Amino acid sequence: MSTQQSSRLSYLGEELKNLETRGLRVHARVLQAQQTPVTRFDGREVINLSSNNYLGLTTHPKLLAAAEKALKHWGAGTAAVRTITGTMSLHLELEEHIARFKHTEAAVVFQSGFTANAGTVSSVLGREDFIVSDELNHASIIDGARLSRATIKVFPHKDVAAAEAILRELKDQPGRKLLITDGVFSMDGDIAPLPELCDVAERYGAIMMVDDAHASGVLGKNGRGTVDHFGLHGRVDIQVGTLSKAIGVLGGYVAGCADLIEFLKLRARPFLFSTSHPPSVTASCQAAFEILEAEPERIERLWENTRYFQQGLAELGLSTGMSETPITPIMVGEGRRAMEFSNVLFDAGVLATGIAYPTVPEGKARLRTIVTATHTRQELSRALEIIGDVARRFALL
Ligand SMILES: *Cc1c(COP(=O)(O)O)cnc(C)c1O
Repeated sequence: MSTQQSSRLSYLGEELKNLETRGLRVHARVLQAQQTPVTRFDGREVINLSSNNYLGLTTHPKLLAAAEKALKHWGAGTAAVRTITGTMSLHLELEEHIARFKHTEAAVVFQSGFTANAGTVSSVLGREDFIVSDELNHASIIDGARLSRATIKVFPHKDVAAAEAILRELKDQPGRKLLITDGVFSMDGDIAPLPELCDVAERYGAIMMVDDAHASGVLGKNGRGTVDHFGLHGRVDIQVGTLSKAIGVLGGYVAGCADLIEFLKLRARPFLFSTSHPPSVTASCQAAFEILEAEPERIERLWENTRYFQQGLAELGLSTGMSETPITPIMVGEGRRAMEFSNVLFDAGVLATGIAYPTVPEGKARLRTIVTATHTRQELSRALEIIGDVARRFALL
């Protein structure tokens, strides 16, 4: 039995060997302590430059206290999907909180940012519709677009004129059109040209949607995201955010008009067919939103640290690509070289994950770093020193 199974799957072994020869058979580092600026992976204490814990909320005492209280009061899990018996008053309170925070009529929480995107795009559009999508949009948008069966039209990264040309061409098609972009692009750290995209969407009657996973808690007043950052309230129909990155816990949400949210609660498949968040998750997310408003200095420190670190890299002569946010790629080029660079850095005390094909295009491999609000100046300057030393050994400088 087992030999038969393994021979039927032997092509996977071939695939793994193929990845290995390209230096892409990589294993995730194992975190052996909390997700903090200096922590232990694989038995080694390192400066952690690879988490999405922008504001240091994963270990904030108020989140921990909220989780503990909810755990004791409500139990460990919900044992049902939202539409059966998995909606607790706690879930509705968080959704109301998010809607107020985002200045929208309503909001719905999903199990992850991934399911928020995929569930929304696939339920709002159908076979006869069109999705106009930036080429660097997140995988969850791409999967949602495929599941919708709509026709997908991809425009070159941030090329508003190209997006407009596609919409112009589709002008007389009866289907609905969705113009969709990441707010902050996850591998390059650049910001979408959202005001111009809104203009184009309005000109052609397209639905405008933004995935603010990396802008949630990072951009805009108190971390309200790109819509607030650009002053576009009321002009973006569908805003997706994540609770898994700066918010420090797990989940995703959609904020928009009441009809959109009610429709998603009736039709989005992850909402209907996958169990709702444990109470502890929901409660700690709500505590995180309270902290965004009560401790705005965290976001200020995040941006100060970002400026300091990026300036340090520039002074070393390293390219950080198109970054405009705390996501700071250090461009290397070839996939194998990026992975080796990352490994040597790790041995020297800095965790900066190598990212290669297929996550980024071939030849654009990089280290992807993110500084957080809770890194100290000493930690960042030590990291810069180590990065400089290793980059010289790799002849990147
Ligand atoms: C991380 C990310 C997601 C997924 O969010 P999760 O909450 O981790 O599932 C979606 N979109 C973008 C742009 C992301 O970077």
